[in-house]
Amino acid sequence: MIEFTNVTKRYKTNIGLDDVSVRIGEGDFVFLVGPSGAGKSTFVKLMLKEIDADKGTITVQGQEVTKMSARQVPGLRRNVGIVFQDFRLLPKKTVYENVAFAMEIVHKKRKEIKKTVPQVLSMMGIADAANKYPDELSAGEQQRVAIARAVVNKPRILIADEPTGNLDPDTAWEIMELLNTINQTGTTILMVTHAKDIVDRMNKRVIAIENGRIVRDEQGKYGYHQALEDAEMTFDTVEMETRRTFKTRFQRGGEK
Ligand code: ADP
Repeated sequence: MIEFTNVTKRYKTNIGLDDVSVRIGEGDFVFLVGPSGAGKSTFVKLMLKEIDADKGTITVQGQEVTKMSARQVPGLRRNVGIVFQDFRLLPKKTVYENVAFAMEIVHKKRKEIKKTVPQVLSMMGIADAANKYPDELSAGEQQRVAIARAVVNKPRILIADEPTGNLDPDTAWEIMELLNTINQTGTTILMVTHAKDIVDRMNKRVIAIENGRIVRDEQGKYGYHQALEDAEMTFDTVEMETRRTFKTRFQRGGEK
């Protein structure tokens, strides 16, 4: 389904990915985790041929992405739905129109659009919102619209890039349940996330990247190492804040 073999991508002095080999099977649900700058976006961009690898081969659905011509790229992307943290809906289109638009741009027949969009909206639990505009919806509802738009053309793969990043915990879980349901229909899901609690509770395969390399690939947990790394980031921030506060207090004290 998705296969990277010895893939390296460098940006001048920065390492995007460093000799990465990994295979994601059809129908898998995989979390891609790692600190900021680890190479997660690079992985996704290479898969969609938004950027090219320096070395190695990438295969998506049996097609070698690394050998594709520009003409073949739209076909590749048609097989991959994408959902983002910030929803990216069209503000001047209704919910129905946002989802219908995804079918129009791939030249689906009007009759098929009319039949499919209500079905997908209903599957996502937002049939009642069909005629509303994105700014009339809650964050969770907007993400449901974004997911409806991503799956309406029945892609084999769904990439979810921090899909719960803007949602409160309860809403995040509703979205995870939705992704799980989509996965159960056979769609491969690759979710990029920092949400440790979600990763731990979902108990799916976790691929961890650091400095462009896969440092862990196993079933189940976000990982001790990863959690430490995130905690350290938080700790650094807290420490900086504390220092700043102390400094301010100290200076104030000095002024007295
Ligand atoms: P992540 O998505 O895990 O935060 P990225 O794939 O965006 O990580 O980045 C991996 C590394 O590549 C980082 O060091 C980042 O600074 C670098 N990088 C990403 N895109 C570019 C770019 N367009 N130009 C230069 N460096 C880049």
